[in-house]
Amino acid sequence: MPQVLAYVTDDEQCQFHRTTIDRRDPGPTEVYFEIKYAGICHSDIHTARAEWGQPLYPLVPGHEIAGIVTQVGDQVTRFAVGDRVGVGCFVDSCGECEQCRAGTEQFCTSREAPTVWTYNSIGRDGLPTAGGYSQGITVEQDYVCRIPDAIPFEAAAPLLCAGITLYSPLNRWDAGPGKRVAIVGMGGLGHMGVQIAAKMGAEVVVISQTMSKREDGLKFGASDYFAMDDPDRLKQLRGSLDLIVSTVSANINLDGLLRLLKPHGVLVDVGLPQHASTLRLGSLTSGNKVLAGSNIGGIPETQEMLDFCAEHQIAPQTEMITGEDITAAYDKVVNSQVRYRYVIDTSTF
Ligand code: NAP
Ligand code: ZN
Repeated sequence: MPQVLAYVTDDEQCQFHRTTIDRRDPGPTEVYFEIKYAGICHSDIHTARAEWGQPLYPLVPGHEIAGIVTQVGDQVTRFAVGDRVGVGCFVDSCGECEQCRAGTEQFCTSREAPTVWTYNSIGRDGLPTAGGYSQGITVEQDYVCRIPDAIPFEAAAPLLCAGITLYSPLNRWDAGPGKRVAIVGMGGLGHMGVQIAAKMGAEVVVISQTMSKREDGLKFGASDYFAMDDPDRLKQLRGSLDLIVSTVSANINLDGLLRLLKPHGVLVDVGLPQHASTLRLGSLTSGNKVLAGSNIGGIPETQEMLDFCAEHQIAPQTEMITGEDITAAYDKVVNSQVRYRYVIDTSTF
């Protein structure tokens, strides 16, 4: 049984420290891969800080994982030793229900074998799952994606959550030529959304808290940049947007955002703030607007997103950190100081 180094938090104070965890030997259809890089998603922080309820401590977060296969079970057909692979937010599901068959395994409806999340979940072996802040992981081959050669390895990890979380709603709601799309919040998710929507052919604007990241937003492909701290200028956008994707991790004024949509426009939320949000329903009825949500993406769409990013040379802008940096990194993410995704180099453990 492989034992690997990992960074763990024992409670919601999130003082990460090094430990050793067990990984199971790969079963017949499983692969074991050495994790090289793991992104820090804001969802790791919400979870580890118990903002969404009490998680299973000790907790090893991390669901943006990139590594190299070093062992395969004897019935593995899709991967070989040496392959560059990635794992995102889930590592198992029933594989048989309507949702799994449709490739949206994150919505598996099975009671007996529902979606197993990469961490803070109970795996089929009956043990708590542990995520990417570790040096290796064993995963069923159907929940592993291939990282195309054109994607720099150091940049691949954040695509497995931030990338797919923006690709999926932009794809579903037809971001493309002739569409005016706003990305709200330019953090880890948002900066991927700007790049992906621009490469899909949409006109993209960013709505951020301040103008401080404007230069970067334009570099990522936005045509204009707006700030919530300048509401007068933001009014220029009223009634002009086909699609808004909000990635904001805190509560914001949803009525204000809905006013920026054209009639029939769509506001998709992917941000998951700790507290409940409110809106006036009149903000929706006035103009037949749509308020939608979106939760990561299934395995087929995640592979499609990776191939799209490879084809269009889309990559996250990352800051590489060590295991000892994780604790401090959490505060910096919450304070919007990261540019734009922290990636943990697991060789530093
Ligand atoms: P992040 O890097 O911290 O980015 C969040 C951005 O939200 C910040 O960069 C900031 O944008 C904006 N923001 C933060 N506090 C704000 C406030 N008080 N008012 C207005 N804007 C504020 O986080 P992330 O990793 O991108 O994740 C974003 C959210 O999506 C989190 O809630 C996370 O849990 C959730 N998430 C959802 C899914 C899904 O499948 N639905 C997947 C992954 C993550 P500016 O700096 O531009 O102002
Ligand atoms: Zn995530």
